[in-house]
Amino acid sequence: MEHRRGNDARRKRGKVTENSGVVYAGLGKVDVVDLPYPSFTLQDGPGVNPASVGRECPHGVILKVVSSNICGSDQHMVRGRTTAPVGLVLGHEITGEVVETGPDVEFTHVGDICSVPFNISCGRCRNCKSGRTGICLNVNPDRPGAAYGYVDMGGWVGGQARYVMVPYADWNLLKFPNREQALEKILDLTMLSDILPTGFHGCVTAGVGVGSTVYVAGAGPVGLAAAASAQLLGAAVVIVGDLNRDRLAQAKSFGCETVDVSLGDPRDQIEQLLGVPEVDCGVDAVGFEARGHGDSTSSEAPATVLNSLMELTAAGGSIGIPGLYVTGDPGGVDASAKRGALSLSLGTGWAKSLSLATGQCPVMQYHRPLMNAILHDRIEIAKAVNAQVIPLEQAPRGYSEFDTGAATKFVLDPNEMIGNP
Ligand code: NAD
Ligand code: ZN
Repeated sequence: MEHRRGNDARRKRGKVTENSGVVYAGLGKVDVVDLPYPSFTLQDGPGVNPASVGRECPHGVILKVVSSNICGSDQHMVRGRTTAPVGLVLGHEITGEVVETGPDVEFTHVGDICSVPFNISCGRCRNCKSGRTGICLNVNPDRPGAAYGYVDMGGWVGGQARYVMVPYADWNLLKFPNREQALEKILDLTMLSDILPTGFHGCVTAGVGVGSTVYVAGAGPVGLAAAASAQLLGAAVVIVGDLNRDRLAQAKSFGCETVDVSLGDPRDQIEQLLGVPEVDCGVDAVGFEARGHGDSTSSEAPATVLNSLMELTAAGGSIGIPGLYVTGDPGGVDASAKRGALSLSLGTGWAKSLSLATGQCPVMQYHRPLMNAILHDRIEIAKAVNAQVIPLEQAPRGYSEFDTGAATKFVLDPNEMIGNP
């Protein structure tokens, strides 16, 4: 109702009222459909928490989406590995231009081009105040932490769309300093909403620094972003493991060593590269859909990567775990996996005094310095992940090619702004 009133007012002012975006359409399927234009009052819809309906967001802005990327996290939902409902509007990796500001927005202005951290956070709770924006206490009625377009993440409407509402805008948004420069570097800057900070956080929490030896499990976009981040942090050797040869070739293209886990446990190949079967720092950029190693790569073995990283990481070291683990997985390999319980050899980690860091990446801790690294040519993240721009209408093709393991990061261009500043 409120939304319709907002639309009527907008129509009278001659403003856009139409919207369209990508929705989950059932197992293995996404569709591009018409959507309501975003409103500053939360509306009911698929995946929207009933307790959130009617919540007012005068602190929000409406963005015209410049770019919105498809993520491995989206694939977990589309593969039916979560409880995401049909009709959920997808998209948490958003960069956009502010086209409307709510009455409580003070410092963000129409025309600003901004990166949106995929975590939604209020900036007012004890976790936000200590920088832990991935576990904000005020944005999800069910549990700490929220995100756009994601199951169990508060029901905020996703941004693989032409328009999206961003709450607590003064707090959440990172404004790019210069519009022309931003649009010129948009394929790199679009990675600031998630995978670059996420890969970087994986490395920081794994203790990567000058001269480190690093093993990154997974050569998807997050693994490649972690590898590029390890290089930025000064690692001596960055080794990336996967079973997908195209993705391993992608990792090689920017100076990483590679391990093909279909040939066996990474341990032997790491020993051949380093002279010792261990690394200083381990990063899990795979998550709960992990395949086994060697002859077992055709089947899933969700604890493989965590157990192998505990074997591979030197005593006293740390393991960064950006890879996603869930509390419920309808497609889990067994009854335990279906409730997110894995068979971890924690004794191995305990005996070596390893530290393990999990959870959503608190994007806001990293996005400004990483933006500067991009703007000053210290990192070529679009090249590292092989970014490829596609129109919004081709999202279904992007999802299906990404699902088959294409060595690319798909970037949706919903308003045809990329390459047309
Ligand atoms: P992706 O699915 O494209 O990549 C995962 C890769 O892991 C694939 O290439 C796959 O072949 C490989 N793999 C499978 N088993 C393996 C094994 N045993 N050893 C090595 N590689 C193996 O996904 P992505 O977009 O790169 O994301 C990676 C993970 O990070 C996902 O679980 C995603 O949900 C998660 N993620 C977490 C955060 C966060 O804030 N923590 C943010 C973004 C993404
Ligand atoms: Zn993502």
